[in-house]
Amino acid sequence: QEVINKIAAGEVVQRPFSVIKEMVENSIDAHAQNITIYLNNAGLDLIRIIDNGDGIMKEDYELLCERYATSKIRVAEDLSQLFSFGFRGEALASISFVSEMTVISKRRDQQVGYKGTFNSQKLLSMCPIGCSDGTEIQIASLFYNLEKRREALNKSEEKKSILQLIQNLSLHHSQIQFKLFYENKCEFSSFNRLETISTIMKINQSCIQEKQFDSDVYKYESHIIFTKLSSVKCKREFCLFINDRLVECDTLKKKITLAYQDCYLCLRVEDGGYYVYLSIKLQPKDIDPNVHPNKKIVRFLNEDEISTEISEKLKQELSPQQT
Ligand code: ADP
Ligand code: MG
Repeated sequence: QEVINKIAAGEVVQRPFSVIKEMVENSIDAHAQNITIYLNNAGLDLIRIIDNGDGIMKEDYELLCERYATSKIRVAEDLSQLFSFGFRGEALASISFVSEMTVISKRRDQQVGYKGTFNSQKLLSMCPIGCSDGTEIQIASLFYNLEKRREALNKSEEKKSILQLIQNLSLHHSQIQFKLFYENKCEFSSFNRLETISTIMKINQSCIQEKQFDSDVYKYESHIIFTKLSSVKCKREFCLFINDRLVECDTLKKKITLAYQDCYLCLRVEDGGYYVYLSIKLQPKDIDPNVHPNKKIVRFLNEDEISTEISEKLKQELSPQQT
């Protein structure tokens, strides 16, 4: 059983990246306004996520790492909304199988906070502690029992994707102050959206545009921030949020790439870079849950039509005759 649990946990949390994504999403769910992340050795030695959110109730510690224990489903109606993004109480449970986890948390309405240590779903120890409002989660020795996974990790790639993750999340949650530290050195601190994009892409803010595309027919609202094709040979980045969750959708990604290709016929798009941030709000019932359990690939009703419509509108904005 222990082995099965370990393997199952390894599926849910494949990389330090996945741990951080889950933890940061929890902080966002807890209404944090500040989220600070510390990483040592690309997250293999220590990950610390500190937020000033709602905190965790003393009574909840016992069940915190139990599989399928979630505080987020109060009424049955919530299910369709929540389940569309998977996990449902699996993140902390899974992480506790492959690391040494410590949770320090204090709710605003409590005098003291509590510190709990966890392993393999179990609460090992718990004691009161003086601390500020909010939650700090420490994940030490990640994959200590999956030695091959530790060895196989490409640390510099991992740090890059984590930085990108935090930058993307900060674009969407622009009211939250994010900070990311590598080896106690500040790597990223969120400021404002356009500033973040222009820093990532090393381009002038005047090359960045922001638009709203909505449709009554397909019942969506979308907000897009995009750059022109920049001649600097740098990355192409498509960052997609559907109903406030960072997800992947190949149909949309392909259509967006095509839009750039069509607009820059004379240029080889492969040589240039662009950045697209797209946030779409759909009716929860139109979203298809978990196509892939850990990659958060999403499918939704009228996917082709909506993707085409958004990319066509983007194309109009990008084409030179518009300006
Ligand atoms: P889920 O997010 O699907 O509920 P998780 O395993 O990610 O499952 O988290 C389990 C529970 O732990 C959450 O439902 C929440 O009650 C609590 N929790 C985790 N992180 C935080 C946090 N940063 N602040 C407040 N509560 C948290
Ligand atoms: Mg969660």
